[in-house]
Amino acid sequence: MTSAEAVRKAGAVILRGGAFKPSTSPYGFRGLGEKGLQLLAKARDEFGMAIITEVMTPTDVSMVCEYADILQIGTRNMQNYMLLDEVGRTNKPVVLKRGMSATIEEWLLAAEYVLSQGNKNVILCERGIRTFEKATRNTMDISAIPLIKSLSHLPIISDPSQGTGRRDLVGPLTLASIAAGTDALLIEVHPNPDEALKDGAQSLTIKQFNELMPQSQAVAHAI
Ligand code: PEP
Repeated sequence: MTSAEAVRKAGAVILRGGAFKPSTSPYGFRGLGEKGLQLLAKARDEFGMAIITEVMTPTDVSMVCEYADILQIGTRNMQNYMLLDEVGRTNKPVVLKRGMSATIEEWLLAAEYVLSQGNKNVILCERGIRTFEKATRNTMDISAIPLIKSLSHLPIISDPSQGTGRRDLVGPLTLASIAAGTDALLIEVHPNPDEALKDGAQSLTIKQFNELMPQSQAVAHAI
């Protein structure tokens, strides 16, 4: 609720939170499930933001749809075709994250799974790919942003938090994404990132987010 209030004040219009969290380690925090969805809905009601949240299995889709305004398919499920079919049969917009090792063609074909079931509201999300580089969590493929724009009519957004895994790089990659033409950004924010249950290293403090918003608007206006 603290994060929601702060980002809303800074100008964010959509709140992304994970109730079902894919975790590389089974011992990591995996989200609060339906209780987490209820908290997201509470933040939506209190602060007037739409909410996005990840759905991980076909059987959870109808329950997640009761709470979410926009569904997220995470990188690990980009090629979970049963799940793509199922969200394709809903009327909710779907953020489709790029698989961490997916080519642009595989990503666009995954989007086709959703579109071909009748759901035309797919939003692609570049979140970094696996390369040999270990200094960052993933390697942000900024070129994917203009490339997708030239290949597809679908909106493309950028996630520099997962894309870098490093708080100090989120700002520069946010600005680079805007310059490259991103339609929106997905940025992780936490009131006290060092105590976050998940992904604290890549979460901005509220102060950092407040500073980044006017910089982002300046770049957006300049291009
Ligand atoms: C997330 O956005 O919470 C997440 C786990 O992202 P990704 O699927 O890109 O790893």
